[in-house]
This record gives sequence, structure tokens and C-alpha cells, in this order.
Amino acid sequence: MELEQMNLINKKNKRVFSFDLDRLDKSNIVNINESKTPLTHVHAGSFRRIFLHFQLHERLLQEGYNSVFYIGNDDYDPYDYFPEYFNEFERESYRHYLGHPLSEVLALEGKGSYADYYFNEMIAILREEFEINVVTYKTSELYKSGVFDDGIKLVLKNIDKMNSLYESITGVSQKFNSRPLQVICPNCGNMRTTRIINYQNEEVEIICQNHKLRDVEFKGCGFRGCLNPYKGNARLFWKLEWPVRWEALQIKVEGGRKDQNSDKGAREFSEKAYLSLFAKTPPLNLPYDFCYIRSAHSQQINRFGISVIDALKFLPPQLLFYLLTKPPSTQVIDIDLESAKMLDIYRDYVKIFLDDDGSKFDLILDNLRFERDVKLDSKFNPLINCLNHYLHTSKEYEAWHLDFSLKMINEDERTFIRILFKKLEKINAWEASSIQEDFRKATVEALFPINQACRLIYRLIINRETGLRIGVLLENVGKEKILKYLSLY
Ligand SMILES: [Zn+2]
Repeated sequence: MELEQMNLINKKNKRVFSFDLDRLDKSNIVNINESKTPLTHVHAGSFRRIFLHFQLHERLLQEGYNSVFYIGNDDYDPYDYFPEYFNEFERESYRHYLGHPLSEVLALEGKGSYADYYFNEMIAILREEFEINVVTYKTSELYKSGVFDDGIKLVLKNIDKMNSLYESITGVSQKFNSRPLQVICPNCGNMRTTRIINYQNEEVEIICQNHKLRDVEFKGCGFRGCLNPYKGNARLFWKLEWPVRWEALQIKVEGGRKDQNSDKGAREFSEKAYLSLFAKTPPLNLPYDFCYIRSAHSQQINRFGISVIDALKFLPPQLLFYLLTKPPSTQVIDIDLESAKMLDIYRDYVKIFLDDDGSKFDLILDNLRFERDVKLDSKFNPLINCLNHYLHTSKEYEAWHLDFSLKMINEDERTFIRILFKKLEKINAWEASSIQEDFRKATVEALFPINQACRLIYRLIINRETGLRIGVLLENVGKEKILKYLSLY
């Protein structure tokens, strides 16, 4: 996408942020952080929070702040489940990796890890489709190079404090006793199956046993022994990792989803843990609500809907950005990309971004519906592709278009179609009124009720229950196409 268009995006969306920008220090670097556990293709709704952080970053740069936008590849998180779209063969091939750090799982194809495969795909989409460039890091590298080691030591020294802090917020006691860390088993490489049974000086004693989490079975190997939990041998439990990461990377802003921000949520604990461990003010929050992007005929990524790759088949990048950034960030977004409302969304899009009063849009829609080839300014191409995808995916009446596939018909219907064919073949002028008249006469001659005849034509030609007046519809399709199609019956 051209830079000019991205600027347009930003001008159209004056984002209001949840805090005063003055609360950030202009004389220091402002690190904004977002992170992603790359278990699957990225869900389209995840881009909401990325765009939100990006808008803050852009705004800070405009205001003269030295802002850096990070997106972390959380590849030291465990491989907890398979993507819904994995087939049986893929499930079998990856089963023994369940519970291993994502950085240690093989990529689906090509070089790098499983996590890199999905993470890099997301970063490429941001760069190529949205001109959003970010600074990336991998948590596996931060752990292995020892960046988090001081934080781990501090957490282990303060386990009692962390436990009572957690209890004061949630009522759950002794939360972190056996699992402040997910230790990677030195024998089998699993991090879901280990449990700490003892702390001794700089070492932890662990056992590796079968573990079940949300119906997923993780296979332990029975190992028991001592090791030190540094240099990548272990990963902090995520609620404890959050404050340690904030400190290690000097994060000043990081958003949190509604469920994390709620009462007794992870955010409150992590902020208080940060204050307690480091005696500093935690990063500013940028709260955001859930974002559902649905399409019944596309592959589901999770309960929030479909991948950004599939969403971009329906929405030009500019429009996706607009839809995800227009509502206040604390409001739920729920978009069904196959709903009847989509035509209004497309129409608004050409008005706002392509300087059209709506007439070009109507022309494009007609051309697509009737499969006419008309040359238009290339700026309309992304819309044309997306609108065409919508028309051919949605089953709503509004998404009707010519559909000359062969349908099943009965003998009465066949008789009517043959009579109609003969009349239309001999018609003098291919005009709506004469076509309508011949259509009416054919129903009389065939003793076929006119309402049934209308429904039949709609079903055969546009695969819908209702439609435009028959004469108008057939005139628009054109004589040659109609006769050729009807002759098949
Ligand atoms: Zn093991």
C-alpha cells in the first residue's frame, strides 16, 4: 500500500487514548510493547490491539517523543494446542511437541521454528499490507541470553510476597509454590510436565510427570533431579514474566485486554508485583475490548473468528484498519464479513477513502453481479477484489450475483423453461417490458403459477429466493447469455 493512503488512514481516525500523553517522559525513550504467542495464523481481531499501539506510537512521534514500538515473539511459551485447521497427519506429527517451548518446535515448512513461522508471517503482513514496521524480539533469546535471570532470582527470593499479593487480589493462596517457573525438563524438553518440589540455593528440584490442561494431555518422562533455572532452563509463569519483562525491556506502555484488566485480573497482579519487586511505577495501560471478525465460510482460527489473511480477502487493508480503529477501544467489535451490512460498509469506504459519491460503487457492484468487464481507475482494484469475494462467499440476498451452475428442476419447471425459451428466442427487442410480457405469457401457456415461475428464475439465475423484476434482471444479463443458459434445460 502506498504511504499516502496510510496517512489518510491516520487522519481519518483521531484516536483518543486512555491517558494523558504528558504522563510519558519526553526526555527518555518511550518503549511501547505488544506481544504474541504464535500458535496459529494470526487472528484478524488481534490486529485491533496492534493498530491501537501503532496509533499511539505514531502520535508520540508526531509530538516529538522518542517512541519505539516493540512486538515480542513469545516463543518461549509452551506449545499448548494444535490450530483447529490441523489435519490428522499434522496432529500426529506434532503431538510429541505438546508442552515444549514453541521455539524448539519444528516449523511447518522452511527454516526456523514453529513460532517463527507464524510470527514472521504476521510481521510480513503488517509491513507489506499496512506499512507498519516494528522492532521485534524473541522471549527464547531473552531467556537463553540471561536477560531475565536477575528477574527470576528476584521472583524466587520473593515467592512468599508474590503468593500473598496474589491471595490479596484473588483469594487463591500459595499460587506460585510449585510453579513460579516452568522448568524445561533436561531429559525430554517438556515445560508443561515439570513441577518444582524444592528450592536449594541457586537450584530447583523438579519432577517430570504427565499433566492435563484443558483436555490436552502432556506426557512427562519421570525425570527427577536438580538444575539451575537460568539461561533458558526455565521460563517464568506469565503473570510473573510480565513485570520482569517490563523491567528488562524498560517498557513504558503496554495494553491489556478487558479480561486481563478486570477486577482480580492478571493486570492488577502484575502491576502490583512490578511495584513490589522493582519499586517503580508500572507501564501505562492501553485497555481494549474483544474483537470478533467472523465469516461462516472461512477457516476459524479460534472463538474470535478468522485469520487476518482471510479477512483481507473481504476487506482492503485500509478498510480493515478503519473498522478496527474507529470505535472506542473499550467497546466490543463484532463484524460478520458475510452479513448484509457489508454493502453499506463498502459503500462508506469508497466515499471516505476513494472520493466517490457512490455512483462508481454502484457501477462496480453491477459489473461484478453481471460479470461485466469495465475498466476503472486502478485505485478501485482492492475494493473490486474484496467485493467480488464477498459476493461469492456470502449467502445473504444482498450478495446475489449471476450463478449459471446447473440446478435440479422438475418436469413442470422444465416445460415452463422450454416455452419461455422459445418466446425469448423470437423476441423483437431485448427490453425489460417485452421480456416481462413474454415471461407472463409463458406462465399462462405452461399453466405454471407466476409466483413459482419467478422463484424458479431467481433460483436458476442468481441462486436466491427473490430478486429484481424478472424483465429487468434478464435484460441486464443479456439475451445471448440467457438463451445459452436456458437451453441447458
Ligand atoms: Zn521430562
